Amino acid sequence: MKLRGVLLCVLFLLSVSALKAFSIDREAFTFTKYDLDVRIEPDLQRLGVRGTISLRNDSAAPQKIAVLQISSSLSWRSIKAGGKPLQLVTQPYTSDIDHTGALSEAIVTLPEVIPPNGAIDLEIAYEGAIVPDATRLTRIGAPESTAQSTDWDQINTKFTAVRGVGYVAWYPVATEAADLSESTDLFGVLGRWRAREAASIMRLRIAVPRDEGEAPELVVNATSCPTALEVRHEFVADCTYQSVGSAVPTLVMADYEVVDRAAVVVHFLRGHNAAATSYADAAEKVMPLITEWLGALRNKAQTADLIDANAAPFESGSLLLMPLTGGDAKLFGLAAAHQLAHAAFSSTRPWINEGVAHFAQALYLERQSGRQAALEYMGLHRSALSAIESGKEGTTPPRSEDEVNRSLVNTADEELYRSKAMCVWWMLRDMVGDAALKKALGAYHPEQDKEPSYTQRLLQAQTPRDLEWFFDDWVYRDRGLPDFKVESAFTRKTLPEGYMVTITVDNLGAAGAEVPLTVKFAGGEITQRLVVRGKSNGVTRMEVPKPPEEIVINDGSVPESDVTNNVFKIEAGDAK
Ligand SMILES: [Zn+2]
Repeated sequence: MKLRGVLLCVLFLLSVSALKAFSIDREAFTFTKYDLDVRIEPDLQRLGVRGTISLRNDSAAPQKIAVLQISSSLSWRSIKAGGKPLQLVTQPYTSDIDHTGALSEAIVTLPEVIPPNGAIDLEIAYEGAIVPDATRLTRIGAPESTAQSTDWDQINTKFTAVRGVGYVAWYPVATEAADLSESTDLFGVLGRWRAREAASIMRLRIAVPRDEGEAPELVVNATSCPTALEVRHEFVADCTYQSVGSAVPTLVMADYEVVDRAAVVVHFLRGHNAAATSYADAAEKVMPLITEWLGALRNKAQTADLIDANAAPFESGSLLLMPLTGGDAKLFGLAAAHQLAHAAFSSTRPWINEGVAHFAQALYLERQSGRQAALEYMGLHRSALSAIESGKEGTTPPRSEDEVNRSLVNTADEELYRSKAMCVWWMLRDMVGDAALKKALGAYHPEQDKEPSYTQRLLQAQTPRDLEWFFDDWVYRDRGLPDFKVESAFTRKTLPEGYMVTITVDNLGAAGAEVPLTVKFAGGEITQRLVVRGKSNGVTRMEVPKPPEEIVINDGSVPESDVTNNVFKIEAGDAK
């Protein structure tokens, strides 16, 4: 570790001095268009790319230098503009955005200064091998086996799967270094890259040499990607991504067999027929729930098998890669609910895109096994959430910029935009009801989502309730989690046969919520919902037929920082 630190330090000094002459802003350019010929040679485990990329200067300063980065296992062959080779320096650049933990960075001197908003096309060529490499994980101490089943990208005759930036930089990118040992650093760098690339287009002509004559079963998560055609000695597929930022461009190729159903195509490896069929069955079963909540599928979902039975699953849009082994119907149902939600509904905002897909999983469990099963599932997600939220709170109050940076609308933290967002969608549903939320989701159009308040307005159109405070505490700002506690409960006997309990609930946290409040008595219970704003209290009266014995706040549907103070015992004889 120490030696590595020293080496890194030396490398860092070298690269700093080598680059002193330039002023480099690695994130100045947006890559607005990729037009690439990608030749995959499974025999050699290699990839060769030729093509054109269009760069736009989105910084405020004129730029004379452009930075192009590809995986460190690939090498630059040429970079030209208008047919003329450009002056360039290439260097290794340490970054965990690639599985090798480093990039081949080309620092290119452009033929002219590109002013802000100005653009330039570059003709590029690069190639190299893509073999399994888990360096970025093993060097931070991940066990070898875990690292390998996480970073499984490779080109091979038996199995080829190459995921895009965040896994393998197989197409050029330009980012600041990402460091996996800093918990949210990689997410932050990737989040900025994806935001810049939201409107970027990628066209790929993927060519694979024809050997036995069989067309390869090629799975690509592009917006459109017709079946590969035979052209002379190759198979060629012409694929287009309409938004590079909202997908992780991914190529998968193997000797797959296929189960093709209305909702999903499942590509499976020999011997995995049973699991593939049960996954397709699970997807068909979950279809009605998804269309009921999110409308018809916009595209058919694709699932492809992974060769390593321990490989970590991967998703991008409605493409799901996972080992098709086993066949737990409930796990398959959960995975299918998430995948089909992505096929029916999408957003460029992670808290909406992923939050809704996880919410669909909770809805699936509720329909299968009841509300309690859904709450338990959300509870599993929430334990991680409480840990990061309470770690953050500590003794010092959150700074106002943290409240903004960590808000659901801005966060690049997966725990927040997945787990917390799922809880937010569930709470909104409990507050406004199924019909209103379904209508609001049905009215959602990603291309119209220009303002953070867009979603709130869609919901507000379906309900007379004011949701501003809720969005403010949970979505626009990160006010942490609520912490409810019964401050007092007074019971009064009412005539002829009944009891009135007056309950005061304190919320010690800074985020408000509408929380279920249950009064238990011999032989039954009654539940009401109560809004308690952050750092505030709420009072409600509940009528019960027998002496109340216990009050329970929160059935688990509202994430809380402390649930140990949620039960309040009422001693016998308290009634006055
Ligand atoms: Zn997802």
